[in-house]
Amino acid sequence: MNLKGRTALVTGASRGIGRAIALRLAREEAVVAVNYHHRATEAENVVALIHQQSGRALAVQADVGDAAQVRAMVKLITCELGPIDILVNNAGVFAKGDLADFDYTQMEAMRRTNVDGLVHVTRAVSDGMKLRGFGRIVNLTSVAAHGTALSGTTFYAATKAAVIALTRRFALELGLHGITVNAVAPGFIPTDITTGGRSPAEAQATIDAMAARAMVRRTGLPEDIANAVAFLVSPESGFITAQTLTVDGGRMDYIAHP
Ligand code: NAP
Repeated sequence: MNLKGRTALVTGASRGIGRAIALRLAREEAVVAVNYHHRATEAENVVALIHQQSGRALAVQADVGDAAQVRAMVKLITCELGPIDILVNNAGVFAKGDLADFDYTQMEAMRRTNVDGLVHVTRAVSDGMKLRGFGRIVNLTSVAAHGTALSGTTFYAATKAAVIALTRRFALELGLHGITVNAVAPGFIPTDITTGGRSPAEAQATIDAMAARAMVRRTGLPEDIANAVAFLVSPESGFITAQTLTVDGGRMDYIAHP
């Protein structure tokens, strides 16, 4: 698996899973655009790490939920790093909520980033990929979309189910142009999205509880997800499309229907 000569855009790559993906693709010699929303310093740190390993990278600010900002970002990356061959739609947000405490504003905010953002970035890069007859797109969904039993994830799950539907539809539309579109569904990975806002003791209790729900009895590392993404964007994965690869250590708390 080597990505030399390829340019990748990873959205939401300033921290967490996106950071690990950016570093992993750079290790495979891809040139990497490190997108971020608010955290410029963290994104510049990712770029500095890639430069230390003799790679090439650029930090690029854009709110993926804003189509004009996304177009400007893609234009900048194309000028500075070259046309985008690999897109990882990783940027995502989570707001807690179930039926009893549904909050439309939170739902809108999640949809704006998790769904609209994915559409904006895919639209902005796919014309160039079509022209060149090559592209690899990976979308970050979640095991929540499959129906895990973790409370508070009902509406987040709905946005991530949309990601799976869009993955299959975009794969159908783009396949004849040499573009594959797949999704990765992570299980529980301790990052800001899952442990942010909790005390260290609360975070550890959540991690322990989630580890107990996985067959391998541990939670995941961002690198576990980055490895799956690297596989799907590799030259060897050209016959894999419209798939969702679940990387959850064997979660056992899926909602069952007898
Ligand atoms: P995280 O640590 O909270 O990081 C989120 C990243 O997304 C940050 O880089 C953030 O940028 C960026 N971002 C948020 N809104 C954005 C926007 N509007 N435009 C551009 N960038 C934006 O989250 P994570 O755990 O790494 O999650 C990454 C992806 O995996 C998400 O799609 C998430 O839903 C999915 N996922 C995570 C887990 C898990 O257990 N962690 C499980 C299943 C799925 P700034 O730093 O600049 O704010």
